[in-house]
Amino acid sequence: MTAEIVRRTGVPTDAVADVVVVGAGACGLVAALRAKAAGAEVIVLERDASPSGSTAMSSGFVPAPATRFQRATGIDDDSPQRLQDDILAKSEGNSDPDLTRLACNTIGPAMEWLSDAFGIDWVVLDDFLYPGHSRHRMHAVPEKTGEALLARLLGAAEVAEIPIVTSACVTRLFEGEGRRIEAVEVERPGGAHEVIGCGALVLACNGYGGNPDLVRRYIPEIAGGPYFGHAGNRGDAVLWGEALGARLEHLSGYQGHGSLAHPQGILISWALMMEGGIQVNTEGQRFSNENGGYSEQAVEILAQPGAVAWNLYDRRIHDFALAFPDYRQAMEVGAIREAVDVAALAAVTGLPEGALGKTLREVADLQAGRAVDRFGRDFTTKPALQQPFHAVKVTGALFHTQGGLMIDDQARVVDDAGKSFPNLFAGGGAACGVSGPSVSGYLSGNGLLTAIAFGFIAGTSAGVSARP
Ligand SMILES: Cc1cc2nc3c(=O)[nH]c(=O)nc-3n(C[C@H](O)[C@H](O)[C@H](O)COP(=O)(O)OP(=O)(O)OC[C@H]3O[C@@H](n4cnc5c(N)ncnc54)[C@H](O)[C@@H]3O)c2cc1C
Repeated sequence: MTAEIVRRTGVPTDAVADVVVVGAGACGLVAALRAKAAGAEVIVLERDASPSGSTAMSSGFVPAPATRFQRATGIDDDSPQRLQDDILAKSEGNSDPDLTRLACNTIGPAMEWLSDAFGIDWVVLDDFLYPGHSRHRMHAVPEKTGEALLARLLGAAEVAEIPIVTSACVTRLFEGEGRRIEAVEVERPGGAHEVIGCGALVLACNGYGGNPDLVRRYIPEIAGGPYFGHAGNRGDAVLWGEALGARLEHLSGYQGHGSLAHPQGILISWALMMEGGIQVNTEGQRFSNENGGYSEQAVEILAQPGAVAWNLYDRRIHDFALAFPDYRQAMEVGAIREAVDVAALAAVTGLPEGALGKTLREVADLQAGRAVDRFGRDFTTKPALQQPFHAVKVTGALFHTQGGLMIDDQARVVDDAGKSFPNLFAGGGAACGVSGPSVSGYLSGNGLLTAIAFGFIAGTSAGVSARP
């Protein structure tokens, strides 16, 4: 199954819809809901037998400024501009400014619309300030999981009577006159093919994290680590975009994560590091500023001996971490080690006791303000690490890519010359994101931000342009 463009007009179709959406993650479902609300008949085509995408694998936290949900939590001084400033600060000004403004202005109204139209409840997480965010603005469904977020969006699609055709992998786009996408071809698991005609097409099939060739081509520094996103995201939007002459931007941008329990493959919250934990390599030595950012830490870890590190922390942090379902799961499978003192810690981790003791003494000095960290971390804001200790072995992973199709302010895909394709739209991981061209540009929540905000715009524009 390869992603292809076929240049042919008037291809016979098995079915037709005003708007066809490729992918049933957050972006595709929000786009479908908006297109339907605009008066268009919509079909969503999803390659999996049961929709999941990276959306269901995610934590489901969506940053949105100045919403009524945020105000109800007592936060009344946030604004799209503040979110924009935070995003640009994290990417050191390298995020596309127009896309960043578009996403920040759209996400609040999109979240309120999902609540008004489909009763999706949002809670604002005000117990932990995500690194780089100047306000508490992470919204989640009450269950606080990506799985529940996807379930709510699927429920809304059911209420809106939007058909979601599963086990339907889109392999070809038919490009007709005037660069209009006239139809798509779907491949079924048994090998059968169907052609669906469309008035407008929304690409919501995420990025290329599940395509090892593209990962090696665009982000070789993370190719040695595991991919922890949805395996079915094989870069089809990028491949179609290349073949169409679309403008592709920031393909070297991605979200990594420097705290995936190894070999169990369970996400260990970065909050452990923010609360005072440290990471050491197999030689028992720190190698970075752990408060720099969890995304770029993935690359730091992959550069260490054996491409692993140990998260070291104490009981206070362990008790705090127990609030995270993933952490409890890591406990259940035995990934979390406990040790009464440094000697026991060395024994349960296999780390050299001498180096480990030296590192912990150095960290105690940094915490007490007796020394300055050579990596630039300020330890003085959190309590000193105390025995008994806890530890978990982790590696760096690729979560999702951030580059993709450049879109205009109506989420229409644009070509290399900056001209928009007439009926081709994109959002979420299929489109260029707001994280800039490198791993360090990812601010927590940039993924679902562009999935929901750009899905909202793409669906509205596609629906308005293609409705009867
Ligand atoms: C572990 C983890 C935690 C995360 N936590 C957060 C978080 O808390 N907050 C946040 O903002 N972001 C988070 N993210 C990122 C977030 O999950 C993604 O940015 C977001 O889900 C992207 O949404 P999407 O709709 O573009 O893609 P997806 O949800 O991946 O949906 C794409 C869909 O397209 C389908 N598809 C692909 N190709 C085809 C094809 N050819 N034909 C038909 N269907 C196709 C796929 O099967 C998939 O269902 C996390 C990611 C991971 C991996």
